Amino acid sequence: MPQNNGSEGIRLIVVDAGHGGKDPGAVGPNRVYEKNVTLALAKELAKALREKMGVKVLLTRSTDRFLELRERTNYANRVGADLFISLHANASPRGKAYGVETYFLNLSKNNQAAQVAARENGTDLKEVGNLEAILFDLMANAKINESSRLAAEVQQSIVAGLRPHYSKIKDLGVKQGPFHVLLGATMPSVLVEAAFISNAREEKRLKSSAYQKRVANAIVKGIMNYAESVNQVARR
Ligand SMILES: [Zn+2]
Repeated sequence: MPQNNGSEGIRLIVVDAGHGGKDPGAVGPNRVYEKNVTLALAKELAKALREKMGVKVLLTRSTDRFLELRERTNYANRVGADLFISLHANASPRGKAYGVETYFLNLSKNNQAAQVAARENGTDLKEVGNLEAILFDLMANAKINESSRLAAEVQQSIVAGLRPHYSKIKDLGVKQGPFHVLLGATMPSVLVEAAFISNAREEKRLKSSAYQKRVANAIVKGIMNYAESVNQVARR
């Protein structure tokens, strides 16, 4: 692939495999662990980013090890990442829930987003409330507009990339939430919920390397579209 693809401004991307080690994340009805799916997906995404965009990629973890949430963005800040992509699988007490959604950090008045954030944060809803106060400070440094745009491109690309290959790909859209794992990041950052591991059909997809590759390639496409749109805005 040519290097001149609109991604000149993006040199280093940190890819974060959600959960790990003693934290399995969500567990599917057939015992697929979120932490294993996110790691496999992170490795596919790193490979695809290097091949298609020619960028440098670092993983927050490349083995099944535990990492505190704040260590993940701290790492991205420390290495000077231009983007931070956190990978997850969704879960719902309603086994039938399914679909793809992408989040960026923002104050959330949306109860459902707060619930997803509470689960991913390993906290309860009260703490999500407390978090909002802290967020006001951190928001000043967060790249909210860029993150929102990146989330939109990534979400759109995943849905478009999966629909030709799978039935029932539901676009749950871009949402905002108080995610610990995105807190403190000083670069555009998004959290992708690649499917519902609590849904047996999507659990099966999540553990297949074909689905992982398709999601990874679609995220790359979304990032390239984002890079192009940012460059175009900058040139005006
Ligand atoms: Zn998760």
